[in-house]
Amino acid sequence: MKLILLGPPGAGKGTQAKRLEERHGIVQISTGDMLRAEVAAGTPIGREAKAVMEAGKLVSDDILVRMLSSRLDKPDAARGFILDGFPRTVPQAQALDMMLAGKNLSLDAVIELQVDDAALTDRIAGRFTCAKCGTGYHDQFKPTAKAGVCDVCGSTEFTRRADDNRETVGARLDAYHKQTAPIIPHYAQAGILQVVDGMASIDEVARQIDQVLAEIH
Ligand code: ADP
Ligand code: ADP
Ligand code: ZN
Repeated sequence: MKLILLGPPGAGKGTQAKRLEERHGIVQISTGDMLRAEVAAGTPIGREAKAVMEAGKLVSDDILVRMLSSRLDKPDAARGFILDGFPRTVPQAQALDMMLAGKNLSLDAVIELQVDDAALTDRIAGRFTCAKCGTGYHDQFKPTAKAGVCDVCGSTEFTRRADDNRETVGARLDAYHKQTAPIIPHYAQAGILQVVDGMASIDEVARQIDQVLAEIH
């Protein structure tokens, strides 16, 4: 299965992608995670991306397209993938079409998670992640069962993203509406767009996605 999870920052893409990864045995490809790894490693791409990401703007199409293309060539992507955070611009969507056509692959679905802007600020401001296993949490909406301890691996170390603050949210939402939302009609025309209500609870969104996928297959 080859899917795109589309939606504004904080919509729940990563949360749902992780679950789909476990359930369907297909890899989550998060361009945000890949870029953060480049920043942490201090690579040339990371050095170029750091300030752009902290300002809540989009990193250049050129970098992203090259990054995704080499990621799709890795053997684990052959069984299927969930793109989380890519494409984010019309040129990226066009490049993806070319890449997939070149590999004789096609997308099964583009799932758009719709969430009101007002809800996104709280989702982003409360987001944190286990430093050891990467499980995502939220101060209010998905706290750890025991305060300060990861439910999955027991680690007591957590991280918060440098760009997850109320100041950059505005710029990130702006980038979504101006640069990313214009790719939605492209997938609607292709007949593969599936809209899911991302305002519902995490479990309910997961149920809606499972239903959409069951109808496709
Ligand atoms: P979120 O989970 O909040 O949607 P991501 O982790 O997907 O954010 O992305 C974090 C940042 O990384 C973005 O704000 C942007 O600067 C950069 N980024 C990630 N994916 C892309 C992309 N496809 N094109 C351009 N920039 C990207
Ligand atoms: P994205 O990858 O789209 O930026 P995340 O999956 O990281 O979004 O979710 C953003 C934050 O909101 C996380 O802290 C997550 O635990 C929380 N969250 C995700 N889905 C929901 C939901 N349906 N309801 C409430 N909180 C949610
Ligand atoms: Zn953990």
